Amino acid sequence: MIAERYAQVNEQIRRAAQAAGRDPAGIRLVVVTKGHPLEDIQQVVEAGACLLGESYVEEALEKIQAGGLPGGVEWHMIGHVQSRKSKAVAAHFDWLHSLDREKLALRLERDAAAAGRTLPVLLECNVSGEQSKFGWPAWQEERWDGLLEPLERVLALPHLQVRGLMTMAPFFSDPQQARPYFNRLRRLRDFLAAHFPQADWSELSMGMSGDFEAAVQEGATIVRIGTAIMGPRPDLKD
Ligand SMILES: *Cc1c(COP(=O)(O)O)cnc(C)c1O
Repeated sequence: MIAERYAQVNEQIRRAAQAAGRDPAGIRLVVVTKGHPLEDIQQVVEAGACLLGESYVEEALEKIQAGGLPGGVEWHMIGHVQSRKSKAVAAHFDWLHSLDREKLALRLERDAAAAGRTLPVLLECNVSGEQSKFGWPAWQEERWDGLLEPLERVLALPHLQVRGLMTMAPFFSDPQQARPYFNRLRRLRDFLAAHFPQADWSELSMGMSGDFEAAVQEGATIVRIGTAIMGPRPDLKD
């Protein structure tokens, strides 16, 4: 079942890319495995997945430290990180999608330096203004200028390697309604790239089970998909 759904989602990504005139190779799939046991993760990795997304530091650490998955599998932290968990993230994850504030950036810089690592990060942006969402405040385009100063400081941190932006769109039953939010993230990326051309803005992590095709239409380079591949989450509420 997991292998079939994994193949099916890959096919849907490929078709969405082609329909948008994009090269499917420009879109990477992070399989979101939060709430799912290692046996299920093993199955999706055997089916070909090599990027795994987790939202909770402790749950993820148990899985990472259990071993048993082939080397080369990358662990992507996609959920909100409390500052006190920065050390674990800096030491054990391959990517962080949810760098949402300067304080966390400063802690991660210190902890990544101590661990002798450089961590690829994405800046999580709140493009909808929903209070339930984390992220750099970016829903009012006329205020994007206000992001430049703090982001300039984040970009200067030597052990964090900014690679682009991440967002979650609001939930809609019609995923096409999410497109303006994905489009806003892309335009924010263009705005930041114009101001900081020396930095790498190549990645747009956007799109989940319910809306990834709309995200691909708007330029996603990374989609984060859980339920559509792994099935419903057994022991998590979100
Ligand atoms: C859980 C989660 C996902 C995956 O959600 P699905 O709807 O199960 O595909 C993607 N991104 C983030 C940040 C998440 O927390």
